[in-house]
Amino acid sequence: MADDVRYDYVVVGGGSAGATLAARLSEDARLQVLLLEAGRASHPVSRLPVSFGLLIHNAAANWLYRSDPEKQTAMREIPVPRGKLLGGSSAINGLVYVRGQPQDYDTWAQMGCRGWNWEQLAPVFRRMEHYEGPQSGERGEDGPLRVSEVPDRNPLYDAIKQAAVAAGYKINPDYNSPDQDGIGTTQTTISRGRRQSTHEAYLKPAMARANLHVVTEAQTERLLLEGKRCLGVEYTRRGERVQVRAGREVVLCAGGVASPQLLELSGIGRPDVLAEHGIAVQHALPAVGENFRDHINARIQWRITDRSVSYNHMARGWRMGQEVLKYITKGTGFLSLPSAPLVAFLKTRRDMETPDVQMHLVPYAVKNPKLRQLHPFPAMTVSCYQLRPESLGSIHIRSADVRVQPAIRFNFLADRIDQMAMSEGFRMMRRIVEAQPLDAFRGDEYSPGKGVSTEAEILDYIRANSETAYHPIGTCRMGPEGANTVVDEQLRVHGLAGLRVADASIFPTMPSGNTNAPSIMVGEKAAELLRSAA
Ligand SMILES: Cc1cc2nc3c(=O)[nH]c(=O)nc-3n(C[C@H](O)[C@H](O)[C@H](O)COP(=O)(O)OP(=O)(O)OC[C@H]3O[C@@H](n4cnc5c(N)ncnc54)[C@H](O)[C@@H]3O)c2cc1C
Repeated sequence: MADDVRYDYVVVGGGSAGATLAARLSEDARLQVLLLEAGRASHPVSRLPVSFGLLIHNAAANWLYRSDPEKQTAMREIPVPRGKLLGGSSAINGLVYVRGQPQDYDTWAQMGCRGWNWEQLAPVFRRMEHYEGPQSGERGEDGPLRVSEVPDRNPLYDAIKQAAVAAGYKINPDYNSPDQDGIGTTQTTISRGRRQSTHEAYLKPAMARANLHVVTEAQTERLLLEGKRCLGVEYTRRGERVQVRAGREVVLCAGGVASPQLLELSGIGRPDVLAEHGIAVQHALPAVGENFRDHINARIQWRITDRSVSYNHMARGWRMGQEVLKYITKGTGFLSLPSAPLVAFLKTRRDMETPDVQMHLVPYAVKNPKLRQLHPFPAMTVSCYQLRPESLGSIHIRSADVRVQPAIRFNFLADRIDQMAMSEGFRMMRRIVEAQPLDAFRGDEYSPGKGVSTEAEILDYIRANSETAYHPIGTCRMGPEGANTVVDEQLRVHGLAGLRVADASIFPTMPSGNTNAPSIMVGEKAAELLRSAA
C-alpha cells in the first residue's frame, strides 16, 4: 500500500534525536514532516523518574537487545536496553543530564566535522535547555527541555562530597559548564518530579501542527533506493506494509543499534556482510556498523551502618509508603531519583588535561543489576566508566529480517588505555569511599570485596561482572568521505542523495558523559542543517 500524503521529510525513529528533529522541522509550516516510530506512543510509568529501573527489562517500552558473548567479557550476553516509545531511550533512561566537554566537540571538528566544534555547539545546547538551576550565562533559559538539579537531600550526599574533597577532588557546582572537573549534584531531565523525554519536551507541544504527522507502531523495514538516491521507506504497521516517499529527504534516527541495521537491510554497508545475508549491494560503505563504542560500567557496593540514609532501608516494605508520600508532597525521595543523585568527573592521571572517568554515586544497592531488587540491608553503590574509550566493536545484521536483532560486539577493554583507566577509576572509587568523612556511614565493601585489588584482579572482575552504561555510539560515524565514516558533516550519507543519519550513531568519538544530551543536540543540529537547505 502507498501512503498518498506528500511528505517533504520522513524521519525514521522518534527518539532523543528523531523526536527533536521532527518537532523542529515542523516549525516551518511549509514543510510536511512524517515521523515513523516502531514503538508505542508512551508507557504509563515512563514519566516517573523511578521508571528507569522498571522499564529496563520491559518489552512494552524496550527493544531488549543482548550482546554476543565475547572472550573480553567472560562470554556473557550483556543486556543492551533501548527505548521503544516516542522519546526513544530518553523515555526510559536514567535521566542524568551531561553535555560533555568542549574538547570532545573540538576533537570532532579537528577530525574534519566542520561546524561541530564547541564554540558552534554551545549555542545549540543553550537552545535546547530550560535550566532550572542558577544562571551563569553558560546555560539555556528558555529551551523546550527542562533540566533541574536533584532536589533530594541526604546527609550521605554531603559526606560523599566531603570524602571526594578529602581524597583530593573538587566540588563542581555546574559540571555542564565548560569545566566538567569535580563532584556535583546531578542535573537531570526531570522537572517538578516528572521525566522530560523528547516526547514530552519537543513532540507534545508540536503535535497540534497540521504539518507534523506522527505514526507509532510503524517499524521501518528498509529504505527505498533508486540508483544512488533514497526515495522513501517501507514500513509495517499492524501487519500492513506501507511505502512512503520523501519529497526532499529521509532522515534515519533509529539510534546506535538500529540505524546501521536499517542501512545494511537496504543494501548499504560492507559488501561481505550484505553478501552473507543475501542482500544485493546498493551502495558499498564499509564503515557502516563499525567504530562502535560504549561505556563499560564497573560497580562497587558497601554496607551502610546508618540505615536512615540508605534507600535499601527507607524504600522497603511499609516505608515505601512514606517515599510515595514524600514524592507526591515534596517531589523528593526514592521515586524522584535519577539513576544517581551525585556524579563525579575525575582524572585518573595527573598529566591529563580534563577528566577521563565518570562516577555515579547512589544511596542504595541492588542484588543484581538484571533484577534491580534492593538488598535487604542498608548499602550504597559507586560505579565508574572511562569517559572516552578507545576500544572499537561492531554492530551488524545477522539476518535479512528486520525483526532479528543485530549482532552486537562491544570488544570492551581491548585497548590498553581503557584497561588502565578502568582499573585506576576502580581504585579511585575506593579511595573516595574510604576517606574519613564517610567513616560515620561506611560499613564493609561486600562486592566485590577487598580481595580484588591488583590490576589483573580488577580487570578480571570487570570482565566477568560489569554491564554497560547504555551508550552505544559511532556505528554511522561522521567525518570526511573515505576516512572510515558513513556521513559527512552535514549528516548526508556519503555517495547517496536524499538520505541523512541523525542520532547517536553519528558521533565520531564518545562525548565525555551520558549520551542523551548530545543525541538531542544532534537532532537540533540536523534541523538547523535541513532548514537551511530547504
Ligand atoms: C536504560 C538506559 C539508561 C540510560 N541512561 C542515560 C542517562 O541517565 N543519561 C543520558 O544522558 N543517557 C542515558 N542513556 C542513553 C541515552 O538515552 C541515549 O544515548 C539516547 O537516548 C540515544 O538517542 P538516539 O536518538 O540515538 O536513539 P533512541 O533515543 O534510542 O531513539 C531511536 C528510536 O528509533 C526507534 N526505532 C528503532 N528501529 C526502528 C525502526 N526499524 N522503525 C522505526 N523506528 C525505529 C526506536 O524505537 C527509538 O524510539 C540511557 C539509555 C538507556 C537505554
